[in-house]
Amino acid sequence: MIILFIGAQASGKGTQAKIIAGKKGFAHISTGDLLRQATGELKEKTDVYISKGKLVPDDLILELLKERMKRPDCKNGIILDGFPRTLEQAADLEKVTKIDQIFEIKISDETAKKRLTGRWNCKKCGIAYNLVTAPKPKKGKLCDNCNIPLYQREDDKNEKAIQKRLNIYHEHSEPVLKKYKDKVIKINGEQTIEKTTKDILEKLE
Ligand code: AMP
Repeated sequence: MIILFIGAQASGKGTQAKIIAGKKGFAHISTGDLLRQATGELKEKTDVYISKGKLVPDDLILELLKERMKRPDCKNGIILDGFPRTLEQAADLEKVTKIDQIFEIKISDETAKKRLTGRWNCKKCGIAYNLVTAPKPKKGKLCDNCNIPLYQREDDKNEKAIQKRLNIYHEHSEPVLKKYKDKVIKINGEQTIEKTTKDILEKLE
């Protein structure tokens, strides 16, 4: 079972993918997280793209993704978050697996920009907080679960990178939604986290 979560930056797709994967016993694979966890040569090669808001070359992403998909937690199903982002990546994915369902988490560019400026993350548990919208951490900039300082992503600090990522989403990722329109379920990502989760669970097959 392969489910794709597609949405603009800060649509909440990562948050929802984490919640739904936890509830259903699926693996949550975020290519952005895989890249941020990279070390050594791979990190050196990929950081230059990420900090500018550009897409990392397909061969590097595919290698990471294929390795991750071999792990045993993938046997019940996988939620892919942030892949495929282009028609080429969708074609690559189809070579290795069938796509069952696609959730499009929809927000406006205005909401995306507002949320991105307030996004702070926990390096340990991966939760994304938001100082401007929600969920806000209970104590300053500390993770509620891990009690460690939150950090802001380099690409969220950089206004040019934010605009670049949104442009890439419209230009390259929206055509993926068009290609698979029969499998796409549209979810309103402007709602609360809880309501968005409820809507996804109702539509999940
Ligand atoms: P995300 O955490 O999904 O917002 O991804 C952060 C950054 O990682 C993106 O802006 C890209 O630079 C890179 N990235 C993540 N997933 C992909 C992908 N499927 N293809 C190319 N680059 C990616």
